[in-house]
Amino acid sequence: MGEADLAEWRVPLADVAVSADLVSAVEATVRSGWWSMGPRVAEFEDAFAAFCGARFALAVTNGTAALHLALLAVGCSRGDEVVLPSLNFVAAANAVAHTGATPTFCDIVGRSDLNVDPSDVEAAIGPATKAIVVLHYAGFPCDMGALVDVATRRGVILIEDAAHAPGSLWNGRSCGTIGDVGCFSFFSNKNLPVGEGGMVVTDDESLAERLRLLRSHGMTTLTWDRHRGHASTYDVVLPGLNYRLDELRAAIGLVQLQQLPDENERRREIAVRYADALRGTAGLELAFAGRLGDRSSAHHLAVALLGKGVSRDRVRATLAARRIQTSVHYPPIHRFAAYRDGASQRALPKTEAVAERLLTLPLFGRMTDEQTDEVVTGLLDAIADAW
Ligand SMILES: *Cc1c(COP(=O)(O)O)cnc(C)c1O
Repeated sequence: MGEADLAEWRVPLADVAVSADLVSAVEATVRSGWWSMGPRVAEFEDAFAAFCGARFALAVTNGTAALHLALLAVGCSRGDEVVLPSLNFVAAANAVAHTGATPTFCDIVGRSDLNVDPSDVEAAIGPATKAIVVLHYAGFPCDMGALVDVATRRGVILIEDAAHAPGSLWNGRSCGTIGDVGCFSFFSNKNLPVGEGGMVVTDDESLAERLRLLRSHGMTTLTWDRHRGHASTYDVVLPGLNYRLDELRAAIGLVQLQQLPDENERRREIAVRYADALRGTAGLELAFAGRLGDRSSAHHLAVALLGKGVSRDRVRATLAARRIQTSVHYPPIHRFAAYRDGASQRALPKTEAVAERLLTLPLFGRMTDEQTDEVVTGLLDAIADAW
């Protein structure tokens, strides 16, 4: 289906809820007359830090900016290597490349656990490795115990790409706060949608200070402080960027953060409904099957694995004809033109084994039981038809 047909999905992949609170928060911010980073951003940062139990939270332009800042702040640069899973959104690899460092791809645990395999992370670490970036795929926490252990023993920085995992818990601790630094995205299809936006969290004060400087040109004071007469001049202490969030998005973020527990709970219910309806289906299994419904997951995505011999293209076409949108998370990064000729290519047999079989089903907080059942029926028919 083309773009003009997007509004025609009976069941879109993701959708946002528009509450009256959201509209009035935006209106009040517009009327306030201060639109660039200011008090609402500070309030959003404080609320987010409290929500996940981090000492410091810095709001940024988007999740990619969060990753880029995190990599720069920990000192990644030319000559360094950064280990990350190939089964990931390309943002982390691109951010690594923009620091001048080289991404080294590693494998997943297997087809029922699409998270990064800590033993393959360790195997990928070499003398030039500066950091590892792990993804809590679909909101299911990685094996952080093993990953913290690897990072500590090998003396590398551990960065969490927590774009799927706001509200996910590992051993009772929020994902994003377990490694050295955590990165969140508030893109429209995420659990906490703002449009564009992101957050970097850390417990390390000097890292937080570097992140703060890098976020805004390396300048020692902010426009907001000068506006309030708290500062009249500034110095530039390192070459920074402009990755600031604005007040309008922070106002949306504050409302969405309050919605997040309900959003995650509803996603969890839908994941359970999918699991109950699809368990035992020939030609299909669900990723993280044993953990669906687990409250430690933010349930960002519902991911199925089609059986060998089932054509994913045909399944997707059948569902699209019923106006059910699907996607693929993700085409592995190491196969993209920009990354496939890298010197650091490693064998990734488990990623290769699932790459053609992954299918993402619709999942969003305001999805109804009827929509969920429609996806299930469509999927069962599509699979019967696609051998
Ligand atoms: C969405 C996402 C990002 C990028 O976030 P943006 O806000 O779109 O820049 C990075 N990593 C993962 C895993 C994501 O899902």
